[in-house]
Amino acid sequence: MEKREQLYEGKAKKVYSTDDPELLIVSYKDDATAFNGLKKGTIAGKGAINNRMTNNIMRRLEEAGVPTHYVEELSDRETVVKKVSIVPLEVIIRNISAGSFAKRYGVDEGIVFDEPTIEFSYKNDDLGDPLINDYHAVALKLATWEEIELIKKYAFKVNDLLKGFMKEIGIDLVDFKLEFGKTSDGTIILADEISPDTCRFWDEKTHEKLDKDRFRRDLGGAEDAYQEVMRRLMGE
Ligand code: ADP
Ligand code: UDP
Repeated sequence: MEKREQLYEGKAKKVYSTDDPELLIVSYKDDATAFNGLKKGTIAGKGAINNRMTNNIMRRLEEAGVPTHYVEELSDRETVVKKVSIVPLEVIIRNISAGSFAKRYGVDEGIVFDEPTIEFSYKNDDLGDPLINDYHAVALKLATWEEIELIKKYAFKVNDLLKGFMKEIGIDLVDFKLEFGKTSDGTIILADEISPDTCRFWDEKTHEKLDKDRFRRDLGGAEDAYQEVMRRLMGE
């Protein structure tokens, strides 16, 4: 499988067409951004780590019954995925308070919830990805009620599975963002990535942050943190 033309360059990945109209190649970059692109930098080695970690997790989710876009890892940075039309909703699940949740409601980070929460942001960079509810998403025709119900079901299932994968390696899954898309026949599948760029991971004992907050908050050691999660997850 070979890349043809570059269709899109995002903040963290490039997307290429292939000779199969149903397949794309994504190429992960080391570029890091935060605060809707206002803060820019690089995290050396991030592209390869996020690519390989995403694929490892997506393979396991698929085995457990969550349909994903994953097809084949081509190299450290490049993966063949099923082409979807992305549902323009960022689906955020939280197990522990942090980030925008703590800020919005004026609470500390680190409150462990009795049950996970879900929220959606409208994926629209010009508007700064505003929070949106399901009625508004349906009104704007971003998705149908049936699609939203299925997305919620898959998102909570991903949470149960991913929480388990991370617990096995001594990491608490604080929160994360998922994106879903529709294949040409209308099937909803999990797309995009699952990595320290899109999840908050805290060491269960030390509560050390092992994710992009090291970059967002200038804590230093982002490279080492990404490497550490990869080592624990994949034994290297
Ligand atoms: P952003 O667009 O937020 O800067 P990225 O740099 O990660 O993000 O770019 C990757 C883009 O590819 C995102 O817009 C994402 O929604 C999209 N994408 C992810 N998986 C697929 C897929 N299977 N088919 C089509 N588009 C996808
Ligand atoms: N997230 C993401 N992309 C976004 C916004 C959030 O991957 O555009 C992830 C983020 O890494 C965290 C979770 O979603 O794991 C919740 O993020 P939050 O709403 O707390 O926002 P933030 O603090 O990142 O502004």
